[in-house]
Amino acid sequence: MKISKFSIFVDGYPEAHESLVFNTRTHALVKISSRFKDILEKLEEANYQELLPYEDKLIHLHKMGIVVLDEADDHERFERFIDRKKYGVDTKDFTVTLLTTYSCNFACTYCFEETTRGSGQKMTKETADIVMAWIKKRVKRYQVKQCTINYYGGEPLLNQPIMEYVSSHMQEWCYSQGVQFRVNIQTNGALFTPEFIDKHMQWGLESARISLDGTKEVHDKQRPMRGTGGGTFDVVMKNLIPAVDKIKMSIAAGYDKSDTQGIVDLMDYLDSVGVLKKLDKFLYSPVHPTLGPKDHPEKLEGVSCMSNYETDNLLSTSTAIKKAMEERGLSSKSGLSTSMCPLTREAGSPTIDTNGLIFKCNSMLGHPDLAVGDVREDEYNKKQQEFMAMEPFRDCDDDCAYKPLCNTGCRLFGFFKHGDFSAKSCTREYMDKFVPGAIKKEYELRMAAKQTSVQPA
Ligand code: SF4
Ligand code: SF4
Repeated sequence: MKISKFSIFVDGYPEAHESLVFNTRTHALVKISSRFKDILEKLEEANYQELLPYEDKLIHLHKMGIVVLDEADDHERFERFIDRKKYGVDTKDFTVTLLTTYSCNFACTYCFEETTRGSGQKMTKETADIVMAWIKKRVKRYQVKQCTINYYGGEPLLNQPIMEYVSSHMQEWCYSQGVQFRVNIQTNGALFTPEFIDKHMQWGLESARISLDGTKEVHDKQRPMRGTGGGTFDVVMKNLIPAVDKIKMSIAAGYDKSDTQGIVDLMDYLDSVGVLKKLDKFLYSPVHPTLGPKDHPEKLEGVSCMSNYETDNLLSTSTAIKKAMEERGLSSKSGLSTSMCPLTREAGSPTIDTNGLIFKCNSMLGHPDLAVGDVREDEYNKKQQEFMAMEPFRDCDDDCAYKPLCNTGCRLFGFFKHGDFSAKSCTREYMDKFVPGAIKKEYELRMAAKQTSVQPA
């Protein structure tokens, strides 16, 4: 027996004589004494007699993946994990992101969608019919219990007739099949009126996400109204305030470089108008670079934002925002999720554009050459096979415990850094600094939820 290479120890926590052990493949988390840690570290040399008193505990830890029989056992379990991630189907829910239009009524200063995606394209009823037929086929094939439509754009509310058509039709069909149906909308909020919400709640609208770039002054400068150039903050807030009492609302706030004060100010403002604590989620992320114009994805836009990826910067901004959230009574997650880029997952949630082209990554919208299929065809295309074949983690350091968490990360970053989607994009330095704190946070969250793990010694 030996400790799995995916088990990470955090020593001296919660007490000085204790350690936490977290397995990145299984997400098992246990608290052990320093004495038992010594025994685990000598597992490979120990003889049967020495281990006998710990037999039950070791069997339990083996089930949790924290210890393994040998190198081959660890390797085989990891390969099975990768297969499940790549080819597994989530039967709980099938989410399809649907672009009703590439147009937008805002003219955000950092938005490159017009050069990339063109404007004015709206989904027609004819295309919507083919899209719905494709979705129905997949819902049946995967035998899912729930189907979610996530409307996206451009600004999806600029094509409301298609939203009504698709939601009402899909809801009726799903119910006839015994499948749950729900709708989420990602909107800039300008047209997200109480009347719109009431109407769409009858067709499954349960949640929505609005993007805000800060308080009025910053938001109005960065997200002006198209044409007039006028501010948009007031109209968004006028719609957001009643919305939090009707459906699950999330806010997505962006920040540039290390400037997180705007996000903190926004939280305080939302609290002052009674919105903050009613939010389902408060999401934040650094502004990312995007692919360049059509046919030239290598001409990256907004690359100055790459400074966000500097390890210390990313870590300190994220820590500062989490602290501010907690001080204001908002819960934050540990960030320890297993991730595999949807590009490399066979049944990952697709995004369908106004023409019926299927994408696995929203950042690739507007680049038809990066589409993995077309709703007029039953099967995905060669690009999907190309993306599925990408396994850059095979080039990772053999001793790296982060593979199940990182999977060499976002394929776009591989492209940004090396001009190749299949290139490894290593974040080990960042993970080394981030993961120990995240394991402690995960432990605190599980303790609070009374999901305490075994305590072997
Ligand atoms: S390439 Fe990155 S942004 Fe695109 S789907 Fe994969 S993880 Fe997401
Ligand atoms: S990309 Fe780097 S951090 Fe991620 S699994 Fe590979 S070696 Fe580890």
